[in-house]
Amino acid sequence: MTDLSRLTLEQKASLLSGRDFRSTKPIDAAGVPSAALTDGPHGVRRQAGTADHLGLDDSEPATCFPPAVAVGSSWDPQVAARIGQAIGREARALGVAVLLGPGVNIKRSPLCGRNFEYYSEDPYLSGVLGAAHVRAQQAEGVGASVKHFAANNQETDRMRVSADVDERTLREIYLPAFEKVVTEAAPATVMASYNKINGVYASENRWLLTDLLRDEWGFTGTVVSDWGAVSDRIAALTAGLDLEMPGTGGTTDAQIVEAVRSGALDEAVVDDAVRRILSLIEQHPSGTAGFDADAHHALARELAAECAVLLKNDHRVLPLEPTTSVAVIGTFAAEPRYQGSGSSRINPARLDIPLDAIRAIAGDVRHVPGFTVPDAVAAAAAADVAVVFAGLPDSAESEGFDRDHLDLPAEQVDVIRAVAAAARRTVVVLANGGVVSLEGWHDRVDAVLEGFLLGQAGGGAVADLLFGAANPSGHVAETIPVRLEDTPAFHNFPGEQGHVRYGEGVMVGYRHYTTAQAPVRYPFGHGLSYTTFSTRGLAVEVTGDDTATVTVTVANTGQRAGKHVVQVYVATGAGPVRRPARELRAFAKVLLEPGEERTVEFTLDRRAFAYWDIRYGRWVVAPGEYRIQVGENAARVVTEESVDIAGDVITLELSMDSTVKEWFAHPIAGPALMQGMTAGMTPEQQAQAQQQQDQLRMVESMPMRQFAGFLGDAMPPAALEQLIEAARAGA
Ligand code: BGC
Repeated sequence: MTDLSRLTLEQKASLLSGRDFRSTKPIDAAGVPSAALTDGPHGVRRQAGTADHLGLDDSEPATCFPPAVAVGSSWDPQVAARIGQAIGREARALGVAVLLGPGVNIKRSPLCGRNFEYYSEDPYLSGVLGAAHVRAQQAEGVGASVKHFAANNQETDRMRVSADVDERTLREIYLPAFEKVVTEAAPATVMASYNKINGVYASENRWLLTDLLRDEWGFTGTVVSDWGAVSDRIAALTAGLDLEMPGTGGTTDAQIVEAVRSGALDEAVVDDAVRRILSLIEQHPSGTAGFDADAHHALARELAAECAVLLKNDHRVLPLEPTTSVAVIGTFAAEPRYQGSGSSRINPARLDIPLDAIRAIAGDVRHVPGFTVPDAVAAAAAADVAVVFAGLPDSAESEGFDRDHLDLPAEQVDVIRAVAAAARRTVVVLANGGVVSLEGWHDRVDAVLEGFLLGQAGGGAVADLLFGAANPSGHVAETIPVRLEDTPAFHNFPGEQGHVRYGEGVMVGYRHYTTAQAPVRYPFGHGLSYTTFSTRGLAVEVTGDDTATVTVTVANTGQRAGKHVVQVYVATGAGPVRRPARELRAFAKVLLEPGEERTVEFTLDRRAFAYWDIRYGRWVVAPGEYRIQVGENAARVVTEESVDIAGDVITLELSMDSTVKEWFAHPIAGPALMQGMTAGMTPEQQAQAQQQQDQLRMVESMPMRQFAGFLGDAMPPAALEQLIEAARAGA
């Protein structure tokens, strides 16, 4: 590595911010090259000309793979990994050192304009997919940037808003995906988000960027700012933010130099950041290897077919026969919507048009462009099946703003309803980045294929799925609600007056619906196939105080090969905190030939049982009963087994602020207290006191400090202090 002592303070400071929108500053005299950082996450957005970070200017052609919303629905780390690998190759070929992705923020509300760039409402699923993507991309020699760290779950006021989140919720919901990626896949960089967390900018948050990320999780890479996220350069650098992007024309470098010279900033802080940036640049030299664009397009098609979700398929209307006469209706059949807007927008190397792909398979296809009711109805009535391509227009969702409703455009709903009334069979194919409401038309149609956004080869993949060349295997990674008003963040999204309060706590997504037993249109984890599966033989073996292994046998009971997603949830009421009804703790996507049976094994580690305890400031496994559930989705458990988990031995430290209940529950202090209270009593009084135990409920929430007054001489303060000591010594 470049010897730091050979660099002047000015040279070192110059490395701490970008040269421009897309690269770091070189130091020619010291042989330090510039490194290119480029979006991401579902393709390479390499801008040769004028650069911007909002997807406004064009970029060089690259393969547009399915965005994260689709990858989330694949429930398959292999899909994430193959995309990571392919875009790693393309990035290297285009001279990119760091490709900015993946995004692992949690879909807190379906309204978030950037949900298409994120995987799921579930942290475990997001973390597994994100880690797979990072490992594969980095194996190609291109650094990843897991983003946007952290609690960046909306676009409204994203550069100022304070996400006000309690620590348990942060630890259990908003941080675990980052934690998994950092601890298991070692991304080259982590991108600090725009927003504040509990009043402190993420980019200036020492707890987040240093205490947690580096000291607790062991991150050794570079922290880079989101583009324009730094408001106080010195505060950010001190908090642990190494690289400020984009460049500021040297203004903030000069501030750093000045702060060191004035003694306000320790030069060692600068040196640490410089070392990390130098190692980033040196470990990711820009290469020139080419890539096979045709092979990547074919891969994009294959993977897109793994992502689309068959939500409904009444009368087995799908798959269609090539001989079926089809009325293809709607704008998106000819002008597909396949990615979202903003910094992640890729200039696709090629683009599959669904209509062309359908025509390549089926002989009798009539297309009705646009959404015109009479034309659509006429075509639908004349065909065996009507396939309506509906969805959200590009303008409805994007980086930079949130939606304010979940509805499809009214003209589309009119067409779907009219077509459903006129057609023999109606299939709806959806293209949308965030979930849309299916109400008002869902029950009238026979089948719904939710494609979300499938990338440049999505058109071909949809045709493959409609005609059975591919068997649907996607499952929604986000609940599809009945009404926006039912969504857990409804009352607190997108916040007001500079704050968004995460009032629903850990009850995000399916955690809320299953706990509240609230109806949804489609639960998290739902997805159909053209074949059928069975599940049997669930066995759970407890392998330690806080670990278990789970085995379960799944079989393909239908006529076609298909992929089944085994979803393992853990449910418990153990511990002093309100637990969600169930939480996803393991999953696997399994390919099964017709009649084939496989036994799948999962390891449940400590975290599968733990909650974050704010009193101890750590993960705790509460002793008690845990139900291990295999779910068809989050709402429907297929089979379950109950086990007792020993968990952690935790004895609460007593004080005069502990409640009467806590005192009596304590294994040492409890009996001693009872004995002290009853020692001077006659046997009759003791019996009476025993009977009056019930009345203790009235005072059990009273702190001992207050209750001591009632005890009088039976338990003077000194005796209570002695008990506190005895409890501490015995614990
Ligand atoms: C986005 C990031 C992106 C960056 C660079 C920002 O607007 O929030 O996700 O990586 O721009 O383009």
